Amino acid sequence: MSTEHVVLVTGGNRGIGRAIAERFVADGYRVAVTARSGEGPEGTLTVRADVTDAAAVDAAFSEVENALGPVDVVVANAGITRDMLLLRMNEDDFDDVVSTNLGGSFRVVKRASKGMLKKRWGRVILISSVVGLLGSAGQINYSASKSGLVGFARSLTRELGARGITANVVAPGFIETDMTAELPEQTQAEYKKSIPAGRFASPDEVAGVVTWIASDAAAYISGAVIPVDGGLGMGH
Ligand code: NDP
Repeated sequence: MSTEHVVLVTGGNRGIGRAIAERFVADGYRVAVTARSGEGPEGTLTVRADVTDAAAVDAAFSEVENALGPVDVVVANAGITRDMLLLRMNEDDFDDVVSTNLGGSFRVVKRASKGMLKKRWGRVILISSVVGLLGSAGQINYSASKSGLVGFARSLTRELGARGITANVVAPGFIETDMTAELPEQTQAEYKKSIPAGRFASPDEVAGVVTWIASDAAAYISGAVIPVDGGLGMGH
């Protein structure tokens, strides 16, 4: 029963994270989101946290646990890009992206795992990207952080798989959010040409896959990379 479970989605105030939180609410879960600004969708509890700050993540989890109970479905969604070619990329451009996308997932999943182990049930869902395995010129920091999530989920599967906990990666392609709206029109047109589906996707098309992974129907899927990319990354 979905009502037994407490979900935490990071970055649930906008974009893909918001759509994921909306879907979980619609499916009857108790849902909290982290946000640095703004609020999560109706029916969610919003807690403040920057995922680069372990103390803030810890405090956010405590607030959710007090209000809703232990988190047993965690969706590490918060992420940033700072695109530029290697020769122009400085240490901060690299570290900030890795510390948010990969380090943020580490902080959140580590904190969530305590409750999951106690319950002997859990779902860890990491939002990666098609470029994690496909690569992308101008995104060395971002794609490295996203492919790192694959090793993360597979190692976690080996550590915690026998305790009723699954860990999977969802790898979206081009989704219409603020992140992709920033790209120049010409880049967007070039992307569209290379996507077999011939279109971009809405955040809700990612959300439906995430809620399915959390469901009992997906209990025997772990360490998988699940593409939601219209065929853009196939073969990788
Ligand atoms: P958006 O830029 O629309 O939203 C990003 C979200 O992450 C916001 O809620 C933002 O919060 C939050 N966030 C960023 N940095 C931090 C931080 N340090 N601490 C806490 N929250 C933070 O992105 P999308 O919805 O497009 O992307 C969501 C995820 O999906 C990301 O991991 C992204 O890499 C991935 N993805 C997106 C694709 C796309 O095409 N859009 C494709 C493949 C993967 P705030 O509002 O406070 O900034």
